[in-house]
Amino acid sequence: MIIKPLEKPLTIKKLEALLRRIDKNHPKRPQIEQDLAKRLAGYKGEQSMEYHLSFLDERKFYILHALRLQSSSNYYFQMDVLLLTSKYFLIIEIKNIIGQVTFENHFAQFIRTLNGIEEGFYNPLDQVKKQKLRLDSFIESQKIKRPPIKSLVCFTNPQTIIRSDSRVKASQYVMHAHNLFSKLEQLNQQFDSSNFTEKELLKISRKLLKQHCEENVNILERYDINRNEILKGVQCPGCSNIPLNRQSGSWFCEKCNLKSKNAHIATLEDYRLLWYQHHPSGNKRISRVSNEFNHVENDFLFRTNTLRIKV
Ligand SMILES: [Zn+2]
Repeated sequence: MIIKPLEKPLTIKKLEALLRRIDKNHPKRPQIEQDLAKRLAGYKGEQSMEYHLSFLDERKFYILHALRLQSSSNYYFQMDVLLLTSKYFLIIEIKNIIGQVTFENHFAQFIRTLNGIEEGFYNPLDQVKKQKLRLDSFIESQKIKRPPIKSLVCFTNPQTIIRSDSRVKASQYVMHAHNLFSKLEQLNQQFDSSNFTEKELLKISRKLLKQHCEENVNILERYDINRNEILKGVQCPGCSNIPLNRQSGSWFCEKCNLKSKNAHIATLEDYRLLWYQHHPSGNKRISRVSNEFNHVENDFLFRTNTLRIKV
């Protein structure tokens, strides 16, 4: 059963909004584009994992995608997938990497080789080890019975070649995503007794879901971009030109001659993503945003104050 579905992460939406709203030649654009590409690759990996998870028995597996919790020591930790079963909990770290990856024992390194170039990455085995410790202490702090916690590192691109130094003991927990099903069958056999009933599992998964706090970064601050650098005005849905003009009740693009009645909706959404620090518990209604917009940033939609629209 999917308790927390996979959704496009807020930070990706913010990065996309930022790229729509800075100049084509802005000096920080390449860095932002690179960061977005990395995050999109990760998200794509998570999306392809959904397919493999769809084969699992709904009554036995409770699935939470991208659950982000705050540990007792005030650190946030995010798990790509958390699977709850009556016998054990399983953290899955998803990697969408092309090329050849090597787990090396001596320095606990994780190296990717692509077109003859080696590049070091944060070792995902180390990553899941820390996530396990944090989840374990989080569960304890919530006064939930502590089941065994297992972890896997899953590579979603079938073309990734995985190599491991024979001394890397944890390599049995590294695999391609298409082997997930058989790996779970193996895991199931490792444990005899159940720790939870279905009802208890549902209660725990809802409790965890309630504690989820989505990453909500101030994207302008992160890239040290001033509000004045943001292109204001309604954006053309056809050719991305900013700003559109208001002509007899519609938005009109001088560049591509497109006419639109509702192009301002996307602009308000950009405003929300770039300025509005929304509450992690959910999305505020757009009308709320537009109220705030009227008070605080009334030049975001328009170059002048002479035009008003009702949203
Ligand atoms: Zn246009």
